[in-house]
Amino acid sequence: MKRLKSVKQLSKLCCALFFIVLSMPVLKAQTGTGTLTKAQIEAALNEAYAKFKDLKEGKNADYIKELANVDPNIFGIALVTADGQVYTKGDVKSMVSIQSVSKVFVMAQVLEEMGPKALMDKIGVDATGMRFNSIVAVELQRGKEINPLVNPGAIAATSLVKGVDSAAKWKSIQDKMAEFAGRQLPINVPVYISEAGDNLRNQAIAHLLLAYGRMYFDPVQSTDIYTKQCAINVNALDLATMAATLSNGGVNPVTKKTVVSQKTVMETLPVMATAGLYDNSGIWLFNTGLPAKSGVGGGLLAVSPGKFGIAVVSPPLDAAGNSVKAQKVIEYVVEQLKVNPYWIVPKK
Ligand code: GLN
Repeated sequence: MKRLKSVKQLSKLCCALFFIVLSMPVLKAQTGTGTLTKAQIEAALNEAYAKFKDLKEGKNADYIKELANVDPNIFGIALVTADGQVYTKGDVKSMVSIQSVSKVFVMAQVLEEMGPKALMDKIGVDATGMRFNSIVAVELQRGKEINPLVNPGAIAATSLVKGVDSAAKWKSIQDKMAEFAGRQLPINVPVYISEAGDNLRNQAIAHLLLAYGRMYFDPVQSTDIYTKQCAINVNALDLATMAATLSNGGVNPVTKKTVVSQKTVMETLPVMATAGLYDNSGIWLFNTGLPAKSGVGGGLLAVSPGKFGIAVVSPPLDAAGNSVKAQKVIEYVVEQLKVNPYWIVPKK
């Protein structure tokens, strides 16, 4: 009190205290996403849900017969921040098979086990620009310069996962996927059986890679493990938690467990950015600026590095094999929250 020379000073101090108290709820409401508030995130998810819930575009995948039987009305959105806050909207309980989204986590596993040089030399990290199950893409470069997010590279990645036999490799993949999601994930047996009985094309891809010296385990067994990994069942919240683990530099923000290294995340996200939505990856990147991965089960996840992971489940797909609603929802949320990394506020 001695130091306060005047009444004026005292009133200044009171004013400052008043503002600090006033701003407290705002500070409290802030998430680990820096400037994003809970209210902003909730509003963006609610609006996106309302805007797109009645959209009827797209069609379930049916080249895997069981996928045609999945309820096309399943629609769930989940966002998990890099500090573990969870936001959901709609149906985040119904599960769909993870399909190609699994490729991201097996890629990360191979990076962990073998490092980036092995991944580049044995598979490649460049976008093919072709459909996810393109045989031409393999043939054109004799198995080189594919990437782990399209079928040939993904089957090759699965073949590289450490394990003395097929069962050990499968267990290792399932365990790693569980760490990303923060819970054990069940396998969708009907989807597995349906695809396993009908995956001659993927087997052909595996054999073609073998012919070019780019298959690193038995091609039939590798394709089978790959088919199983694609049949893992997830809901929107599982996918968002998996994305949030990437967003948080490899540490699951809910379980706090380190799943992969920061370096692995740094090397995984760029491939998601260039090849995560198959031959429409460029359009996706143009619209959102975010690394993402889709699957023909109807799941789509995206990563806002250091901020959050977001995922949507909605089975009807567009011609490239990406969920129509999921793309629209995430694009909308990214725009509302201004998390496209290329959205740059100029310094004046
Ligand atoms: N299991 C599917 C396949 O190999 C995965 C494809 C996808 O999701 N794009 O065809």
